[in-house]
Amino acid sequence: MKTSLRILIVMALAVAVFAAVTLKKSKSPANSDKASPIQSASVEKLPRLLDLGADKCVPCKLMAPILEGLKKEFAGQLTVEFIDVWRNAGAAKQYGVEVIPTQIFYDAAGKELFRHAGFFGKEDILAQWKELGVQLASQPSARIVRERPLAPDSRPRDSVCFLCDGDVNPKTKTVVKGQNEQRILCGPHCYFIYYSSLVNPDRKAEEAKASVTDWASGNLIAATTATYLYGIDATGRATIQAFADQDAALRAQQSNPGNVVTFDVLRAKELATRCGFCDRAVYPEDACNVTVEGATRTCGCCTHCALGVAARLRKDIEVEARDAFSGEIIRVKALNGSVASLEPPTAIAWFGQKKDDDGKWVSAGCFKQGFFVSEANLRKWLKARPAMTGRQITIAQALADKMKLSPEQIAKACKLGECR
Ligand SMILES: [Zn+2]
Ligand SMILES: [Zn+2]
Repeated sequence: MKTSLRILIVMALAVAVFAAVTLKKSKSPANSDKASPIQSASVEKLPRLLDLGADKCVPCKLMAPILEGLKKEFAGQLTVEFIDVWRNAGAAKQYGVEVIPTQIFYDAAGKELFRHAGFFGKEDILAQWKELGVQLASQPSARIVRERPLAPDSRPRDSVCFLCDGDVNPKTKTVVKGQNEQRILCGPHCYFIYYSSLVNPDRKAEEAKASVTDWASGNLIAATTATYLYGIDATGRATIQAFADQDAALRAQQSNPGNVVTFDVLRAKELATRCGFCDRAVYPEDACNVTVEGATRTCGCCTHCALGVAARLRKDIEVEARDAFSGEIIRVKALNGSVASLEPPTAIAWFGQKKDDDGKWVSAGCFKQGFFVSEANLRKWLKARPAMTGRQITIAQALADKMKLSPEQIAKACKLGECR
């Protein structure tokens, strides 16, 4: 009863939205035993994706919204069908299926081109069609692309953090002297992110290049010899003040509670939490939570890095991220390197990009990425960031981009000058 009711509802919706073509398609799952691939394709002359599964098998259930999405997005280009092999006992035998779910790819003439057993994500299915020579064009959508800044960043260069792009507070300014240039950072925290982005750093040599601002006098002093007051702000985030003089740090501690620590202790605290993808230092409160195979917990320094954990470990993960504009929770489950579930389903990603010296679009780095529960939130976030460039992508695409990386590329990910 329930099933036939559901089929009726599906058919009613199909009639309303896609008119006659879809009506023919909707008949097939109900009469799946009789619908041979050749019959079905000869009527519609469309490539066909057939998924054989069961409504109570977990990976099959994860396939359902993907198939539904493909059906809508490629209406008129692709036939998408599902057969429940537990309800249609003959179907498994008819199609030679031993594992569920199994997806069979047919060309427009009804010839089987390929089959895949197990969960198969949207991006993988689309990539497979492409490999089989079937070009599917996504319905035109109003995805946001910003190739040029709305307004140039007019801040003086020495007041912008080299790493996070934030304003540099003169009281916490941190400077790294290179051979020809110096890099200005907004504070010691960005220094440690910078340090964790270096490829095989010589620690002593690197630290010797770093200067911090003495909170009391405003003068630059060697980072390694300073004393630090490590406190916590109202939001629970660490604050770091540097002092040339330990007594000055102890005096400041009277009005601003925190620990007075040496550079060595500060380093240990700052490098304690690392991104599970790119290994950068990150504060837990700024990070995305990542659960690996339902048990181990790690984090991503940005939303895209969080997805990258699946690529680095080649394991299934669950990401809990926050909307960069509203702070609302977004949950992504990645199974076999594909998005298996997304909460809310409207969630999207922003891929912050910039042009490199060769004019090629490259990632603008971890600080320019984000997830949003809706396109509306992305628009609001972008409005407040007129200098930002990049494009809106799906979270499935963000994951697919990471899954494409080789182990060598992953080892270099987010290292200075190697953003991917
Ligand atoms: Zn910074
Ligand atoms: Zn990272």
